[in-house]
Amino acid sequence: MTIKSEEKPARKKAKRNINTEKNARRLELIQKKLDAGLLSEKFPEISSVTIHVIQFYGMTGPVFMERTINMVPGSNIYLLHMPCMGEKCVNGGFDLTSKVEDLVRNNRKSGKGKMLCQVTDASGASHASISYDISIKYS
Ligand SMILES: [Zn+2]
Repeated sequence: MTIKSEEKPARKKAKRNINTEKNARRLELIQKKLDAGLLSEKFPEISSVTIHVIQFYGMTGPVFMERTINMVPGSNIYLLHMPCMGEKCVNGGFDLTSKVEDLVRNNRKSGKGKMLCQVTDASGASHASISYDISIKYS
């Protein structure tokens, strides 16, 4: 009985540390988002962007999540940063800003590709990846 009651808080505490780190990171992200500005400030030539993203475990593993993001000139530019869904991933994520930049620079209406999470695991392999499909309408 005593062992059990000692075990439980210890396990809870370890979990809380990860959560605290994640929460701190989350607050930092909210601040970054507030500071980021609008789509129209960075890309005044865009009237709308649609991004379809599928996030996978590892390079080709099962699907974590799938989402479609629609952005208009008044949207926060930080929507181009996809958070990594990896449970223990604190600093990872996917920044599609440069992908949109490339498309705009080349006057292209669409583009697709794959990206790895910026954080790799102990073996050097990435634990998560996304495939993205971007469509842009110009004003
Ligand atoms: Zn990650």
